[in-house]
Amino acid sequence: MQLVEPASPGQYRGASTYDVQQVDNGKLLGTISRSIFNFDSDQPRGASFPYDGKVYSDADGVRLTLGLSRKIGRISGLALELSGRQYRLIETHRIVRGVDYKPLDDPDAYRALVNAAQVAHEHRDLRTFEKMRPHIESAAFCICPGCLDCFAAQDDCPTCAGKGFVAKAAPAGSD
Ligand SMILES: [Zn+2]
Repeated sequence: MQLVEPASPGQYRGASTYDVQQVDNGKLLGTISRSIFNFDSDQPRGASFPYDGKVYSDADGVRLTLGLSRKIGRISGLALELSGRQYRLIETHRIVRGVDYKPLDDPDAYRALVNAAQVAHEHRDLRTFEKMRPHIESAAFCICPGCLDCFAAQDDCPTCAGKGFVAKAAPAGSD
């Protein structure tokens, strides 16, 4: 199974929140929020554990350690392998400098935000630009790879139908 996706920023971030979804059947295993893992179902975790597992990052890589069973899963990019099963991490929240971001999934709001960021950039208003950037990067859309949102090319662009942006590809499973 090939999970490498050079085009997507598929890196685990300790400050983000993820749904952990089984790849072959789409079932939700649990969630990871700020490195704390909890099962979706009420599996017994034992009284001594305040949570079901924890994500550790060190020189050996990123791994998920389950408290009760002491099972260890390996996280590479946004893929988790645990007990021989494949899971994917789907980002649902991102914390940037203490602010809670939900991925932007409204096309009009995304267009407006990109426009505002472009204006800020043109006016060299980097403070405003940097504030908007996490919203844009975590959105459900990305700038169209066909026309790069360039005004002249955009109108005839078949990739985005003139919008200048496209929905981000699903994390895996499409070929
Ligand atoms: Zn385009």
